[in-house]
Amino acid sequence: MVEIIQSENPVLRIVSKEVPVTDITKPKIKSIIRDMILALDSQSDGVAIAAPQIGVSLRIFVVSGRIFDEDFIREKSSIEGDLYKKARQSDIVFINPILKKMSKDRKLLSEGCLSVRPLYGKVRRATRATVEAYDEDGKKFTKSASGLLAHIFQHETDHLDGILFIDKAKDIHESLDELLN
Ligand code: ZN
Repeated sequence: MVEIIQSENPVLRIVSKEVPVTDITKPKIKSIIRDMILALDSQSDGVAIAAPQIGVSLRIFVVSGRIFDEDFIREKSSIEGDLYKKARQSDIVFINPILKKMSKDRKLLSEGCLSVRPLYGKVRRATRATVEAYDEDGKKFTKSASGLLAHIFQHETDHLDGILFIDKAKDIHESLDELLN
């Protein structure tokens, strides 16, 4: 089992490199993605993970299908937003993600991080965001989101640039029962 790197580790501060598109379907990248999904699934409160959080400086993040589960979200947080009335969906892999569009409308939301346990804080982020990325088959796709998922896009993209939410957060406090990215 791969370990989730904690905030004192300098690997979290490195700007990650793009994955060469022709490498996306190669076993090495597939195995990194598998490790990320396993690490994320091992954390009952995790909603997303970026490759540097397992010690890999590549531009990849994974969003757990859990975030589309209303019951999970309601139980784990008080975040309100346009969460989707759908059963557990599969995890979504974003390779070489680029934030294409962000709304001017911004909102403070409570945020935590699998690599910065047990701290939480409020971060002001765009309420709507669009990401362009490659999927695990090397196909380019675009995904727009609002609410929690839009915040996750921005939190994870920050990870790929060596930025942690505590660099931006207000009201940093300890907690054990909130969502983690
Ligand atoms: Zn994080």
